[in-house]
Amino acid sequence: MNPKRILVVGAGHVGLYAALRLSKKLSSREAEVIVVDPQPHMTYQPFLPEASGGNISPRHAVVPLRRELRRCTVVAGAVTRIDHERRTATIQPIVGPTREIAYDHVVVAPGSVSRTLPIPGLHEQGIGFKTIGEAIYLRNHVLELLDVAAATTDPEVRRRALTFVFVGGGYAGIEALAEMEDMARHALKYYPELKASDMRWVLVEATQRVLPEVDRDMGAYTVQQLLKRDMDVRLDTRLESCVDGVVKLSDGGTFSSDTIVWTAGVKPSPMLDATDFPRDDRRRVTCLPTLQVVDGDRVIEGAWSAGDCAAVPDLTKPPGNYCSPSAQHAVRQAQRMADNIVAVIRGREPIDYKHKHAGSVASLGLHKGVAQVYGIKMTGWPAWFMHRTYHMSRIPSFNRKVRVVVDWTLAFFLKREVVALGQLHDPREDFAEASRK
Ligand SMILES: Cc1cc2nc3c(=O)[nH]c(=O)nc-3n(C[C@H](O)[C@H](O)[C@H](O)COP(=O)(O)OP(=O)(O)OC[C@H]3O[C@@H](n4cnc5c(N)ncnc54)[C@H](O)[C@@H]3O)c2cc1C
Repeated sequence: MNPKRILVVGAGHVGLYAALRLSKKLSSREAEVIVVDPQPHMTYQPFLPEASGGNISPRHAVVPLRRELRRCTVVAGAVTRIDHERRTATIQPIVGPTREIAYDHVVVAPGSVSRTLPIPGLHEQGIGFKTIGEAIYLRNHVLELLDVAAATTDPEVRRRALTFVFVGGGYAGIEALAEMEDMARHALKYYPELKASDMRWVLVEATQRVLPEVDRDMGAYTVQQLLKRDMDVRLDTRLESCVDGVVKLSDGGTFSSDTIVWTAGVKPSPMLDATDFPRDDRRRVTCLPTLQVVDGDRVIEGAWSAGDCAAVPDLTKPPGNYCSPSAQHAVRQAQRMADNIVAVIRGREPIDYKHKHAGSVASLGLHKGVAQVYGIKMTGWPAWFMHRTYHMSRIPSFNRKVRVVVDWTLAFFLKREVVALGQLHDPREDFAEASRK
């Protein structure tokens, strides 16, 4: 028989794990696996806050695709269209014209993007926290603002530079806020001109609680910890505008800030709009528990999806519930999906995905955390330790695990790095200036 061609769209948590398993289980006579992603790496998003906070080198929070996926064909580009009727995808490589590629099976895993709202000024002033680029930028930006605040004699410029706003109190927002504040507080040791009380860290959350992934008491504990660190936590409050960095909140609060981080949820990748796959009211690809794409009662043969872009029924809950967008589900779904694709290719029946969400672990800065796993609640150092060991065990590849542990060990003995490499964001500036003279 001719080898089947399996096209994997996106090499994130779902795509990388699915491709790895498919390429290990299927011989080259059975299938070829082609993986398309515009990035040369998978981003282990749960480590973004620690990478931003300087406890992990940003390079170690990502996993190089070509090193891990040696038995797959890796294409650097974006899938811009899928016509599943014709079993054809259009790829825009990072250079050169678009091309079409035919496939037998497609794994649709482009994940999600930040879910924004039409808030005046947000597009111009805001930044998300989903990519390694955003994490590195934010770290350099915050450290540079400490330099601005230390250098200026204008109290208004200083106040604005030292006001950091995070919108959205899910784990991404809370961890990013807590890690960045922890890093900035540590960095202030080297800034005799500044005091910790000069900084203002603001959390804006539209609902009455944070961390909806854990019980209310754990959310309340988290708020208490942030308040103890003199953070300005505003629940039941919305960002109304931030034109030119002038932040206006629904509770009447108004102040200026150079840092507005938007972490108020995600929505499925807009790339799905250029496909003929069925979607639900939240624009996710509709799936069966087997991870096969389904249109009503009709299984779409050869189409599979999982992760943040897919509506996968959660069989551990009453009907009508779907798996949450989390790495925990994405990785397990990827493995089940790969096994199901292998089963179908070999003429067997696919099996349902069923996993009871184990809970959540969140870091609130060095030695601080909150965790609720299988109903067991932990706070402080044990939760933080659990967060670290859990994610270290989950990041793909032995190579990355070792590098992350070495980073942590070095940070333990030598303290974290607090140098800003802002030049990275405009590396040609000096050369361009020199060549003008
Ligand atoms: C800061 C942060 C912290 C988090 N912490 C946790 C945590 O502690 N625990 C937890 O369970 N979850 C956590 N999550 C959520 C978790 O990371 C996501 O649920 C998970 O990454 C979803 O996996 P995915 O494969 O669907 O998408 P992703 O991992 O985002 O992968 C999508 C991939 O598709 C690629 N892609 C996009 N468009 C295209 C295209 N057109 N063509 C080709 N490729 C494309 C992207 O480049 C990317 O590589 C966190 C998320 C963030 C942002």
